[in-house]
Amino acid sequence: MMSSLYGVYGASGCGRGILPLARKELQQRGISLDRLVFVDDRPEIRLVNGHQVLSYTEFLQKDATERHVVLAIADSAVREKLAARCAFDGVKPWTVRAENSVLMDDVILGEGAVLSPFVVLTSNIRIGRYFHANLFSYIEHDCVIGDFVTFAPGVKCNGNVLIEEHVYIGAGAVIKQGRPGKPLRIGRNSVIGMGAVVVRDVPPGTTVVGNPAKALLRG
Ligand code: UDP
Repeated sequence: MMSSLYGVYGASGCGRGILPLARKELQQRGISLDRLVFVDDRPEIRLVNGHQVLSYTEFLQKDATERHVVLAIADSAVREKLAARCAFDGVKPWTVRAENSVLMDDVILGEGAVLSPFVVLTSNIRIGRYFHANLFSYIEHDCVIGDFVTFAPGVKCNGNVLIEEHVYIGAGAVIKQGRPGKPLRIGRNSVIGMGAVVVRDVPPGTTVVGNPAKALLRG
């Protein structure tokens, strides 16, 4: 009997972190784990952590009623490219959440998100498409997060913060709380270095590091 096929797109570090979450979700829904595969455009080996690695073409060719993928690649520009490719081919975005991730109240999570273990999203939060929140990250109240934003592990995003699309936030960074009606704003395509303490707005396309976080001047 034909059934849906589920893919973790990206068979590298990020993908191997997301695969167990995807596996757990399918097990809970009573879906056979042989319907869960990796998809990778440069498949180096054919089996990773017990699951087959297919090229995208092979994934499309396999018998299935529907195809779902979670984009398990940290680079947000790649996620955007692959999201468009999947949409074109009718492959559906798959949101994968760790069982112990917590969504408190009035959290709107866009399609294709990944929430790793111990992620907490509190109240009145808006999040765009293909968000990645890695281990132990949190988002406090009244934050607005754009499309294709990526949190490395342990990001502390306090209340009233606006993060625009394609921002990357490194491990352990802390974002200071903004004010109601005047959020702290991190502009699109910015990169926040690991451990940075962001206390004021970050203009678009800027890399900031340190405490207090300052723009990294290229030498
Ligand atoms: N990849 C892909 N299609 C792309 C770009 C990347 O399938 O257009 C795959 C790539 O072959 C690799 C994975 O995605 O297996 C990215 O792995 P990497 O270690 O660079 O990043 P991470 O797993 O940390 O996101």
